[in-house]
Amino acid sequence: MTYTPARPVFRSLWRGFARRCPACGEGQFFSGYLSLGEGCSHCEEPLGTIRADDIPPYFTIAIVGHIVVPLILLVERHAPPPLWLNLVVWPSLTLALTLLLLPKVKGAVVGLMWSLRLRGDEQQ
Ligand SMILES: [Zn+2]
Repeated sequence: MTYTPARPVFRSLWRGFARRCPACGEGQFFSGYLSLGEGCSHCEEPLGTIRADDIPPYFTIAIVGHIVVPLILLVERHAPPPLWLNLVVWPSLTLALTLLLLPKVKGAVVGLMWSLRLRGDEQQ
């Protein structure tokens, strides 16, 4: 019987969200904005083979939508701004939040997949 060390889900998810290695919490595993490197720069855990595919953009869209849409409705109800201001503020806020959250959400998904021992190439 082989020993498999525990991989706590929430710790791995949080470390991934912070773009740190879910295994050691020290190293980096991104080689670019969204691309994964070979593995952790500190403990060399092979994280580069984990395929998150389309899940990070789906989660990012859901999170940003749940932030921006209620803000739009709240502002429109209490102090409706002029149309030109709507056309400047909301797309800019949506783009900024998306670009800020997408790499963090990808890190969290990779951390979650690592903790569940998923590689993204599983067959049903
Ligand atoms: Zn590591």
